[in-house]
Amino acid sequence: MVQSSVLGFPRMGKLRDLKKATESYWGGKISREELLAEGKRLRLEHWKIQKAAGVTQIPSNDFAFYDQVLAQSQLFGVIPERYSKYNLDPIDEYFAMGRGLQKDGVDVPALEMVKWFDSNYHYVKPALQDNQVFKLDANPKPVVEFNEAKEAGIITRPVLLGPVSYLALGKADRGQTVDPIDKLSDLLPVYVDLLAQLKAAGAEDVQIDEPVLVFDLPAKVKAAFKPAYEKLGSLGAKAPRLTVATYFGDIVHNIDVLPALHNVHSIHVDLVRNPEQLDTVVAALGPNQVLSAGVVDGRNIWKTNYKAAIEKVEAAIQKLGKDRVIVATSSSLLHVPHTLASEKKLDPEVADWFSFAVEKVSEVVVIAKAVTEGPTAVAAELEANAKSVQSRATSKRTNDPDVKARQAAVTPEMHNRLSPFETRIQKQTDHIKLPLFPTTTIGSFPQTGEIRKQRNLFTKGEITAEQYDQFIKDEIKMVVEEQEKLGLDVLVHGEPERNDMVQYFGERLTGYTFTEKAWVQSYGSRCVRPPIIYGDISRPAPMTVKESQYAVSISSKPMKGMLTGPITCLRWSFPRDDIHQSQQAQQLALALRDEVIDLEKAGVSVIQVDEPALREGLPLRKGSERDAYIKWAVDAFKLSTAGVTDATQVHSHFCYSEFQDFFYAIEALDADVLSIENSKSDAKLLEVFKAKDYPRHIGPGVYDIHSPRIPSEQEMKERIEQMLVHLDPKKLWINPDCGLKTRGWEETRASLSNLVSAAKFFRERY
Ligand code: GLN
Ligand code: ZN
Repeated sequence: MVQSSVLGFPRMGKLRDLKKATESYWGGKISREELLAEGKRLRLEHWKIQKAAGVTQIPSNDFAFYDQVLAQSQLFGVIPERYSKYNLDPIDEYFAMGRGLQKDGVDVPALEMVKWFDSNYHYVKPALQDNQVFKLDANPKPVVEFNEAKEAGIITRPVLLGPVSYLALGKADRGQTVDPIDKLSDLLPVYVDLLAQLKAAGAEDVQIDEPVLVFDLPAKVKAAFKPAYEKLGSLGAKAPRLTVATYFGDIVHNIDVLPALHNVHSIHVDLVRNPEQLDTVVAALGPNQVLSAGVVDGRNIWKTNYKAAIEKVEAAIQKLGKDRVIVATSSSLLHVPHTLASEKKLDPEVADWFSFAVEKVSEVVVIAKAVTEGPTAVAAELEANAKSVQSRATSKRTNDPDVKARQAAVTPEMHNRLSPFETRIQKQTDHIKLPLFPTTTIGSFPQTGEIRKQRNLFTKGEITAEQYDQFIKDEIKMVVEEQEKLGLDVLVHGEPERNDMVQYFGERLTGYTFTEKAWVQSYGSRCVRPPIIYGDISRPAPMTVKESQYAVSISSKPMKGMLTGPITCLRWSFPRDDIHQSQQAQQLALALRDEVIDLEKAGVSVIQVDEPALREGLPLRKGSERDAYIKWAVDAFKLSTAGVTDATQVHSHFCYSEFQDFFYAIEALDADVLSIENSKSDAKLLEVFKAKDYPRHIGPGVYDIHSPRIPSEQEMKERIEQMLVHLDPKKLWINPDCGLKTRGWEETRASLSNLVSAAKFFRERY
């Protein structure tokens, strides 16, 4: 029988149960025992779902209260002394590393957290010491959880992050200089011990994730696979069989590593993202090695096309035989919501195209059955699936000929402004009349409890559209008056009408749908609920013009309109998988282009198109895919902004500042002004702009908006002084790092007042 496997299951539970329990524990509302019990309940529930569906390889140790990489650091004793010295209860020490702790005389910041590959999940980076000692926990979590499942009659396949990936994804702790990969030989005995304990507990198989194999690897990291798997793969009867799993990319460029893995039982590859790697990987397998074929998408919410998936698996079976192929999810299902069954308001036609974690578990089983017993064994499922696939492909809801026609008519000229920057900036300066060191904000002002309350009342139908509109108008008026009092130069309307910077636009575009409970873990207890793009995108009516126009009408100061850019709308949604993302970006760009032109007509002289997600969409490896992404992403931004006259000033905003290898993309946007998060990383960023002789205007953030702390005028002056070492005073804007929506009014007023004073100080000096 062809085996079926799931690489990991989402741990939040059906109704974000884990989030609720964890936050209640942090807030002192439930006890440690209650939290641990809730974790146990969720694990059991998730195993049972997979068992009932008939999955043969069910994962364990995929659960974590905060992050699975952090859990592994604790398991191995990779705990910096600043946390261990307090002798906290293990779970509190773990949370202290994940999110910092300031309580009862303990005061430690969190460890660094970064994006997990190109997903929206974030992991806590292992922080190693120069003299790191690895020590397996006395009561290892993977063994505990394996036993837990076993008690319930379910034999699972524990998941570990492999030694090479664990080290390569880590870093030297602050003040340390160790290159983590140099610690490999010290770390391996811990794995050997752990694998032996798992085997003794009854685990026949263990999944070892080595996702770094999809990266371009430094020679040293690449060379580490051989010693690592010569050791782990040759433990024989003392250890379980190993499946080395890779995902989110292909391993063709690292295929010469495979011989070093010939001792392991099976190799898992992502055939959703990179189906073309199949032949190369199959050819590189050892004579008895098994292929785990990831054909059910762990990263997106679309129903699997059974016919296409079965063809992929059959192609592998043809070469390897049924005993040497496992049907699997492409990656862990951590990145998709729990179950479609929770969605009560979706249009049934569209809902029929979706599949979340619970549904994907069944898909893996159906495919395995189809290739084991033949299609007649699952005839009903295949037929229903073919119908659904057909409906999606031909539905009027997905295909809009007008959108396609508009895309076909896009010309290269539409991506370019009328004149070069030097000409534009002259006209803009005359038109907008800006002083030296102009001050502005990024768009949002505090989203107060009152705003959320009114929005809720409106959504529930308890106040009328007129009442809600009036409330928003009053908010805008107040925000504009506050800015005038503060003496800011380019004003904003404050974005009070926006629930979220992507959802707000999605709700006003065709081709988008929204869920009620489809949450996905982003980090720790934080979850996001990405909208879903299912069809061709167009803008039936203006989306932001009413609010911006009103703001223009009540002030004589220049007004800035804010829009979320095409790439950010795309990246922070579940995209379609039936047309290329570049096509979806272009559709979004055309919709936004209309909005930009309408804003200009409404008297908005400065238009900012936010692209905080531009960089995170960058493909993981250098090369043609990355170059292609930059080309279409930049084109989408330009297409959305280039429809205005020279005198209208286009801004863009980025909440990060790692521009070193990305600078040419930023430059290619041709935005008149960039505002960039900078207060935590000053000089590096500024040096890049200086070195490249960046010709246009920039506003590096002068203060961090993530903290309620009020920066003094002096502090901001010092930052500006530092900027002036690198940047031309004529090109410098003064603004905060990002929007102010999470801040309170009091600190916002005080901080902005200091910001304006600091700008005035330099204005007099130059
Ligand atoms: N204009 C948005 C705001 O001010 C930008 C948010 C962001 O960059 N994340 O909130
Ligand atoms: Zn931002």
